[in-house]
Amino acid sequence: MPPTGLASTGPRVVVAAVAHTIPPRSLPALRRSLLDWFRAHRRPLPWREAPALYKTVVSEFMLQQTQVKTVLPYFARWLGRFPDFAALAAAPEDAVLKHWEGLGYYSRARNLHRLARAVAVRPAPPRTAAEWQELPGVGPYTAAAIASIACGDRVACVDGNVARVLARLTADATAFASGSELVKHFRPLAAAVLAPTHPGEWNEAMMELGALVCVPRTPACTVCPLFKHCATAAPETAAAIPRLERPKTEQRQVVRLWCVHAGKLLLHRAAAGSRRLAELHELPAAADLGIDDTAAQRGALLLRRSRSITRYRIVESIHRWPDTAGTATKLAVSAQQNSAGGAALHWVSLTELESIALSGPHRRWVRELLARA
Ligand code: SF4
Repeated sequence: MPPTGLASTGPRVVVAAVAHTIPPRSLPALRRSLLDWFRAHRRPLPWREAPALYKTVVSEFMLQQTQVKTVLPYFARWLGRFPDFAALAAAPEDAVLKHWEGLGYYSRARNLHRLARAVAVRPAPPRTAAEWQELPGVGPYTAAAIASIACGDRVACVDGNVARVLARLTADATAFASGSELVKHFRPLAAAVLAPTHPGEWNEAMMELGALVCVPRTPACTVCPLFKHCATAAPETAAAIPRLERPKTEQRQVVRLWCVHAGKLLLHRAAAGSRRLAELHELPAAADLGIDDTAAQRGALLLRRSRSITRYRIVESIHRWPDTAGTATKLAVSAQQNSAGGAALHWVSLTELESIALSGPHRRWVRELLARA
C-alpha cells in the first residue's frame, strides 16, 4: 500500500481522499493521445536516432542530475571516443574520466566504465530492469529506462518529471517531504498507466511531456495532449502541484590555496569512492593541507566564486600561498599527513594541466588564474 492514500488494485487505479482517479476505461484514449503527441513532437536527440542499447545506457547515465542541453556535446564526444561497450571496457580509467570532465558527479563515469566491463564479458547484455539494476550505478529509474527503451521490458520509469505529470493528472495535492518520497508515491500509478505494447516509447513520452509541456512553473495546459484527461488542467493550479517541501539552502565557505612552486601547481585528487568527484583534481582546500582557514586567508585573495550544489550555496575563495621552497616542502609534508581514503595531493606541472582530469569549475578557475600570471 502506498504511503499517502494512493491505492492500486490490479489495473484499476483508485486515489483516495486528496486525488482524483484515472478510470481504466479512459486509459486507451489517454495513451493514444500522449503517444501520438510524442511521435509528432519529440526532440530529435542523438540517442533516439538510430537507437542502440549502448547509446541508451550512456545517455541515461549522462542525464542523471544533468540537463539535456548540457549532455549533448559530451554525448557526441563520448560516442566518438568510446563507440560501444567493448571500446569503453578497454579504455583506461584516466581517459574515461577525462571525457567526463565538466559533467560532474564523476562516480557516474566510473560506474559506466565498470558496467561496460561487466557487459563486455557476458554472453549477452541484460534484458530486464531487475537484471540491469544489478550492474554498477544502475538504480530503479535508470534500470527501468534502459530496459523499457532498449529491451521492451514492461516497466514504468518514475522520476521527478513523471511524478509531476501524474500528480497533476490526478490533482493529487499530497505534501511530500522529499523528491524520493514523491517518486515512491507515484510508482503504482505509473505502472498502471504504462502503455503495455509500447513501454519504452511511453516512458520517453511521459518524460518528454514533463520536460516540454507539463513543466514545473508554467505548464502549457492549453496545448497539452492530456488536457481533456487531466484533473488539474489549469496552469495556475498545476504550478502548485506536486507539493514538495523544499529543503532550506545552507551556506558554506571553502578556502582554497593557489600554490605554485617550480613550475608546478598543487592539486588535490578526490578518493576513488567519492560520489561527486571520484579521482578528479581540484585546487586544495585549506583543510586538505591541515591548515586552518584563517591562516590560508592571509595569502592574497585571487578569486571568489559562488556555486550551488544540491541544497548548498558554496562560496569559494582562492588565496595565493607564498611561492618559497620552504613553504612548498612544508605543504607537501602536511599534504601527505592529510591524505586519507585514497585522496591525495599532487604537484602537477603547469604544462600538463590540460591532460589531467579537473572538475569543471576548477578547470575554469585554473585557466583564469594562469591567464592572469
Ligand atoms: S493539462 Fe496541464 S497540468 Fe495537466 S498534464 Fe497537461 S500540462 Fe500538466
